[in-house]
Amino acid sequence: MHVLVNAAVSADGKLSSRRREQIAISGDKDFARVDRLRAESDAVMVGIGTVLADDPSLVRHDEAHRAALRGADADPPARVVADSRCRTPPDADVLAGDRETYVLTSEAAPLDRREALESVGATLIVAGAERVDLPAAFEALSTDGIDHLMVEGGGELIFSLVEAGLVDELSVYVGALVIGGREAPTLADGEGFVADFPELELDGVDRLDDGVVLHWVVR
Ligand code: NAP
Repeated sequence: MHVLVNAAVSADGKLSSRRREQIAISGDKDFARVDRLRAESDAVMVGIGTVLADDPSLVRHDEAHRAALRGADADPPARVVADSRCRTPPDADVLAGDRETYVLTSEAAPLDRREALESVGATLIVAGAERVDLPAAFEALSTDGIDHLMVEGGGELIFSLVEAGLVDELSVYVGALVIGGREAPTLADGEGFVADFPELELDGVDRLDDGVVLHWVVR
């Protein structure tokens, strides 16, 4: 499976403020770029931290671009949430509508919460004892026909994906604002690396709105 991580950060590398609420870091041109990337993907993924903070629907994409790429009858991109304990609220926007939503979860998820998500149409993939085993869960997604996955954050999930060697490409919009705050989420949080830092190869730089998009390939 090909995995692209796309996110928007402030000039100081923050995904959001210390309040973890959604912040407009980019503008219309970048939203259009993101909509095209979604249209090129089989599924769009976030972590449960992002679901609880932003309640995203993940449905918006460039429909004309998708139709041109895959034909007018192509299914829209599916949605994926990494959620070890099935904390996704059954009325979350990521589960609304008839679009396929996968919840990647673990053995630690209580049965009643699993059932609640299945009853509103989620497809559960159980991988890992306490936390989602991302390589195993991605194998299952791949078996289900997900070949191109776009990950939109947040920082905990992105760090784990990089750590597990699952990321092929990284595109980051760097916006013209400073958010600051030691508690504010950054592009890659988690435990952090202290050695053997994963290396990237710069593949392109585009000026967009009042910021830049950096395209990296993971070595
Ligand atoms: P997150 O990365 O969205 O979700 C992290 C959660 O995912 C973990 O706490 C964990 O909860 C679950 N998870 C399951 N398996 C995991 C694994 N193997 N590795 C890591 N996590 C796993 O949350 P976040 O880091 O708190 O980021 C949320 C913030 O980012 C919000 O403020 C949001 O607004 C912001 N955001 C910004 C952008 C942007 O482009 N600017 C994009 C997205 C999000 P469990 O243990 O309960 O499963």
